[in-house]
Amino acid sequence: MDANTNARQVRQVRQARLARSHRRSAFCTIVPPHVLDKLSHAEDASLAEPARRTLEHDALQRTRRRITTVRGVPAARAAAPSDKPRRTLYDAQHRTSLPGRKVRGEGDQAGRDDSVNRAYDGLGATFELFLKAYGRRSIDDSGLPLNASVHYSEDYNNAFWDGEQMVFGDGDGEVFLDFTIPVDVMAHELTHGVTQYTANLEYFGQSGALNESMSDVFGSLVKQHVLGQSAEEADWLIGAGLLTDRVTGVALRSMKAPGTAYDDDVLGKDPQPGTMDDYVRTSRDNGGVHINSGIPNHAFYLAATALGGNAWERAGQIWYDVLTGGDLAFDAQFADFAQLTVAAAHARYGEGEEQAAVREAWAGVGITDLRAHVGAR
Ligand SMILES: [Zn+2]
Repeated sequence: MDANTNARQVRQVRQARLARSHRRSAFCTIVPPHVLDKLSHAEDASLAEPARRTLEHDALQRTRRRITTVRGVPAARAAAPSDKPRRTLYDAQHRTSLPGRKVRGEGDQAGRDDSVNRAYDGLGATFELFLKAYGRRSIDDSGLPLNASVHYSEDYNNAFWDGEQMVFGDGDGEVFLDFTIPVDVMAHELTHGVTQYTANLEYFGQSGALNESMSDVFGSLVKQHVLGQSAEEADWLIGAGLLTDRVTGVALRSMKAPGTAYDDDVLGKDPQPGTMDDYVRTSRDNGGVHINSGIPNHAFYLAATALGGNAWERAGQIWYDVLTGGDLAFDAQFADFAQLTVAAAHARYGEGEEQAAVREAWAGVGITDLRAHVGAR
């Protein structure tokens, strides 16, 4: 075993321990607070009220998350991680106590509730990408059961991963539709679970924006995998199909063209930058975690489209290697992450086009000056 391998193993063990001690995960919602805040000031009460209640709910959850640890990992852990997901769907019946009434278990036939069926399929699609593409067995790579509750609260305009399970609102029907509709939204939230069990990126500032970006990247890859789309064919949108016709916009975010997902009287304009020149310094949204994530998102898009073919293969593999490899610090900045992707491209593919594509992708968003791959660690 060489010194590098040894050092990496030590880091992985330390990281796993850190992840366990940080089980107090961030409260990650798909719709960021600044969007709901804007909406809550709409003159039309039918728009403002649900947004205000969602915002209040989420703020309370965020505070609670800071002062309490989440419940322990479910005890029913399989002895050997399986190649099959173990999904359980619950109906929260428009209340806020979780998980609610069990409505579908693994292998059960689809029922009449579309939200349940979509959530069941979305959990399966996410499990499948991580297994087929990266050999990962569920969120924790140890076969963690996947639990999800639908019909959470009333007119609830969000979806979240609470550290243990997925939760979906029905949307208010005015601005947002049912949150089980976009498969990438579901995969985004579950990827917060993967990050929680691996690099455990701190949910603040650039490391928080990287945490958000990981979820957008693998969220989009799950959708591309389901649709069998290449990098060229993909829409690279997050949350397409979630906004009602009433909104001037196509999705929550665009990895292809950050800042262009919506521009609406009520929702305002998509605030995402695509390059470091437009980096947003703000104290809102945990230091702009859902805003500046546009920068690493766009870097991934550039790398994936430069390489072509299926984005979950080479580009996705490189990003996955960095997320799970043990070298990514919990407080990593964009440049740290970028550096690691160049090293990971070289480690896996050698002196090929992959390394050059990754380096150029980061240069394309204004992150230059990365060290040569040799000895980059
Ligand atoms: Zn998120």
